[in-house]
Amino acid sequence: MNLELVRTHLEELGLCHAASVLDSRSEQAVKAGWSYIEFLDQLLQEETATRRERSLKIRIRAAKLPTIKTLADFDFGAQPGVDRRLIQELATLSFLDRTDNICFLGPPGVGKSHLALALALRALEEGYTAYFTTLDQLVNDLRQADLKQRLEKCLRKYLRPKVLILDEVGYLPLERSTANLLFQLVSRRYERGSIILTSNKSYSEWDAFLGDPVLAAAILDRLLHHSVTVNIRGESYRLRDRRKAGLSMPPPTREVMPA
Ligand code: ADP
Ligand code: MG
Repeated sequence: MNLELVRTHLEELGLCHAASVLDSRSEQAVKAGWSYIEFLDQLLQEETATRRERSLKIRIRAAKLPTIKTLADFDFGAQPGVDRRLIQELATLSFLDRTDNICFLGPPGVGKSHLALALALRALEEGYTAYFTTLDQLVNDLRQADLKQRLEKCLRKYLRPKVLILDEVGYLPLERSTANLLFQLVSRRYERGSIILTSNKSYSEWDAFLGDPVLAAAILDRLLHHSVTVNIRGESYRLRDRRKAGLSMPPPTREVMPA
């Protein structure tokens, strides 16, 4: 009778997981001689853990990560060009509070996207929101929205998350009007939300792929004012795997092909 009443209260309060385990935990409490506080602690802990897990799943789905990559899976030994201590510092996520940006630069296959995705996952695990897009997807989306007079609404999708992952910057050259849309996004996130960017281009090459040195300077100015650049110069992890397996090497990747 009492148990029924408690369950109803828990359900009304929205503590559905606690309600569902109430019977078994109260039985356990009697058997193990838990104090009232221990019993309550057990119920609330389980409720909190279930909620956290659910919230993480929802945020991971909303972040549109193409794959789950973790820092634990990143083999620092295979990539001496990456400073492990710096990555560990970034993994504390203090850069998010400072709204610093992170730019991973380097040739294809060196782990730029892996590290960007792993940091995004860390942010999600700590309760933040994230959103992943390639630059190509982003500018297509913004361009379509602009044509339909819905740019503002579309921009908000990219401004809202605590951290925006902008992958594969620089693979395809942009037209001036498109580069201008990128400028709008970068300048509106400036000092408001972090961007984690990956690119196969060095900053000196941005003039060329943005097609306008003034615009390139304006974008880089905002992007780099509070930022950390991680230059990765190493062998492609994909090719290294092939080489180790004794497979022949494929022809060199064309510069314009996304990694
Ligand atoms: P990039 O974005 O620099 O082109 P990726 O991050 O996509 O390269 O890496 C290519 C593949 O190799 C991915 O599957 C990634 O998980 C893996 N990889 C790259 N570097 C490492 C590393 N140091 N340790 C473990 N896996 C790695
Ligand atoms: Mg990549």
